[in-house]
Amino acid sequence: MSRTLLSNFLALHLSRTFHLKSTYATFKNRKATNENVPKLLSQHVPHVNPFESEMEQFIKTTHSLTGIHQFQENIISKYNSKLLTKESFDAIFMRMCLACRNYQLGKQFLHHIDQAGRQANTATLGKFLSLCYFCSAEVEDKSEVEKLCLSITDKWQEGLKLLQEDETAHYSLAMNAMVNCLLSHNHFDSAILWMDKIIAKERPISEFVYEHWLRKCAAHHNCWQIFSDFLVRGGVFLKQPIVQKLKDVLRNRSRDPFLGQFTAIDESTGRCQSCQKVLKNTDITDEEFAALRKRITEKVLLGTDVFLGSKPEEMQRFKELIKTTAPYDIVIDGLNVAYHISTKNRKQSSTKVDALMSVVKYFTNQKLRVLVLTREHLLKGVALQRMKQEAHIFITENLSRDDPFLLCAAVQSKHTKFVSDDLFRDHLFRLADFRLQAIFRLWQRRAQVQIVKIDRNGSVKFHHPPPYRTVSQFADGCWHIPYDDGTPRYSYESPTTWLCLQPKSQA
Ligand SMILES: [Zn+2]
Repeated sequence: MSRTLLSNFLALHLSRTFHLKSTYATFKNRKATNENVPKLLSQHVPHVNPFESEMEQFIKTTHSLTGIHQFQENIISKYNSKLLTKESFDAIFMRMCLACRNYQLGKQFLHHIDQAGRQANTATLGKFLSLCYFCSAEVEDKSEVEKLCLSITDKWQEGLKLLQEDETAHYSLAMNAMVNCLLSHNHFDSAILWMDKIIAKERPISEFVYEHWLRKCAAHHNCWQIFSDFLVRGGVFLKQPIVQKLKDVLRNRSRDPFLGQFTAIDESTGRCQSCQKVLKNTDITDEEFAALRKRITEKVLLGTDVFLGSKPEEMQRFKELIKTTAPYDIVIDGLNVAYHISTKNRKQSSTKVDALMSVVKYFTNQKLRVLVLTREHLLKGVALQRMKQEAHIFITENLSRDDPFLLCAAVQSKHTKFVSDDLFRDHLFRLADFRLQAIFRLWQRRAQVQIVKIDRNGSVKFHHPPPYRTVSQFADGCWHIPYDDGTPRYSYESPTTWLCLQPKSQA
């Protein structure tokens, strides 16, 4: 078992590149996330807290921890900082061992905690885990590391909370390592929980985790069910090499094998060029939409969203507007649209206003009910009067954030569409509920319209949501799985490359 861990958990990571990439199927797809190796202290990273450099000196010059108790008392009383307390000392000391890549001292320190009859907290264990990862050549007993992984994953909720405080690259590494470890022990449901959390934080899931899942799918029949549920919910785009392996695994399994074809989906119709089936869109149920609407509206209108930063009078004005003029067919993020005009002309506010007017007219010419959110500085005087004849207007103060107002106005009715380039990633995350986040993504994919370009003559080109789902899906007995073949694409585009999987029995 320890050899398995060696290959899965440590050696695999180290033998490969540290740059982990992953792509998510948010409405605007991030192309890639590069995760950099955490810097060593020798690379002159400035210390955030003054006590850290003293700790670093201690770690670099000491070889035994006989004086650690005295050192701890002295440094805590010397700096008298809320950040450095008896409770936080262990994790901070281990973090500094990690920064110095001093595995031997980190190991001794863990032993010291144990000898003192205390239990190392999860933050300390998490840091030690990362230290093992970076100093794997020095780790003699791999089974110890494996036990450590499990001890953290058993307390996964607590561990997660502590790990989330660590916003560095260690976070993803430790999380992915834990998923890997859980998979080694066939704790599939827990592995999925951790992966959901990684996705919710928009962190990358490592390729080795996907490879591990595929090995499990080959060995355990029920694994594909669990993993495919994750693909559907998580909206992840796998990379081509992983999809190739997935195709092989599903073809070779003894029960319910599938035959795969790499294919493309017609963007205007949603028709698969391989099996000729038409991919469908997913409707959000009324109940799901009501839950999303309730949460977003409460956050904005009841002022529970501290993030908003707007004044009570502004909020009151918005409430009145919604009460008297909602629902809308289209809600437009005015500032976002105004900045769509070419950078050359950006500074002329008349050009920005013209761009916004072109977009508004595109919709009002179709007799649609439009709300424009704009800023004090953007729209005033004659331009404002002209705009008021076309649409409902809400002017936010220059310092307020307008995206919460935009979302709130857009969720007043299920049929409403909104025009914006924003990703709303922070809103998505702050929903803090995986089910609502999934509903938000579905809604966003259906409701968000993006501007491709606005010509000087006023003609506007939009990117409308495609008429089918652009994530992994199962219907009529077959699977369609989009994958990333590495072709560069615009942020609002989904991959055009798909794997079409048909049951072998029908082939
Ligand atoms: Zn197909």
